[in-house]
Amino acid sequence: MNYESFLIKYSEIGLKGKNRYKFEDALVSRIRETLKEFEGVFNVYKEQERIYIDSSKDFSDIYDRVIEKLKRVFGIFTICPIKKVEFTSDYKELSKFVLDFVKNVYGTDPTFTFKVKTRRVNKSFEMHSDDVSAELGHDILETFNKTKVDVHNPEVRIFVEIRNHINIYSEKIDGPGGLPVGTSGKAMLLLSGGIDSPVAGYMIAKRGVVINAIYFHAPPYTSDRAKQKVVDLAKIVSKWAGHIKLHIVNFTDIQLAIYEKCPHDELTIIMRRYMMKIAEMIAEKEKCIALITGESIGQVASQTVESLRSTNEVCKLPVFRPLIGFDKDEIVDVAKRIGTFETSILPYEDCCTIFVAKHPVTKPNLNHIYKSEERLKEVIDDLIAKSINTQEEIIC
Ligand code: ATP
Ligand code: MG
Repeated sequence: MNYESFLIKYSEIGLKGKNRYKFEDALVSRIRETLKEFEGVFNVYKEQERIYIDSSKDFSDIYDRVIEKLKRVFGIFTICPIKKVEFTSDYKELSKFVLDFVKNVYGTDPTFTFKVKTRRVNKSFEMHSDDVSAELGHDILETFNKTKVDVHNPEVRIFVEIRNHINIYSEKIDGPGGLPVGTSGKAMLLLSGGIDSPVAGYMIAKRGVVINAIYFHAPPYTSDRAKQKVVDLAKIVSKWAGHIKLHIVNFTDIQLAIYEKCPHDELTIIMRRYMMKIAEMIAEKEKCIALITGESIGQVASQTVESLRSTNEVCKLPVFRPLIGFDKDEIVDVAKRIGTFETSILPYEDCCTIFVAKHPVTKPNLNHIYKSEERLKEVIDDLIAKSINTQEEIIC
């Protein structure tokens, strides 16, 4: 069967009351953006609490790619390839459309068990929905005599929606759920080359948040390949999250200053505090109203509850840590599913691993940290300003 249209259903965004149109509009524009590469093929629009993607031409050659792309658009609950026909008030004509649909999709001699479900929104079609379903069931049985009705556990469900036009479909493909990106503000993701932070960015984007990202690199201690890996990760996350503006900040001089002047068991914590500070400064410039990290309690020394408290403390913006209660294997599962895992495990050095102490503190004492940071006071403001002024920006 060559479908000409998709019916897109959304769930949660249906619940947003007066703001619903904003959510629908955001979803329509996300779908348009996603299908941009097929310029001129599709028309995306909303009508009666539904979103439609119509095509002016046969698109069977790109069908699979279109589905793959739609499966990444947050806010979509289900994707239904449909046959869309003009409204008729005549049952006989409707029945013919449905029988043609069955033949086109399942061939002339199908053997499935089935159930018909009708929804009548347009009441100028006078028969009641249940009667329409029963009659259509009857006509299908008569036309395709190897089929059987099974109302409880059918192999095929045939949906008929009578609106200003008529939708006929039998396939529902799961979308990713969530909210359309662009409906929940913007946040700055601290994106390293690891497994966790890309997953954290994906999870927050899924709730409708536009993502900016920041990566701290430390040339020549970290290589261009390590930086490229982060760019690649941002590109993979952007397949879900829409375009991501990636800020690449040179952290070398700050790291060297910390290394030179502060106790080595506190290096990671102090470094993480400056990362959060700089991320917040750039976030504010970019109108991001939250930070995102890939931290999870107890995963490493810098992620004990005490350590999290001391890195959290430097920020005024809320810090979202969507993985906070996840085990590593749970994070890995998501990373594999969203396609970041293979890139994340490429073995390029990370700026945190180069300057780590053998025995980092796991319960940092804030008063000690303040004292250590005092030792940086002559240089740190200039170093921070320099790192911000020399940042590189890449749209991924
Ligand atoms: P990840 O897998 O995300 O790298 P991790 O387990 O390696 O996490 P850490 O290195 O302690 O954990 O980093 C904790 C969080 O700090 C990361 O999830 C990320 O959000 C942020 N982060 C760490 N290093 C960097 C970096 N070089 N640039 C930007 N953010 C970073
Ligand atoms: Mg890391």
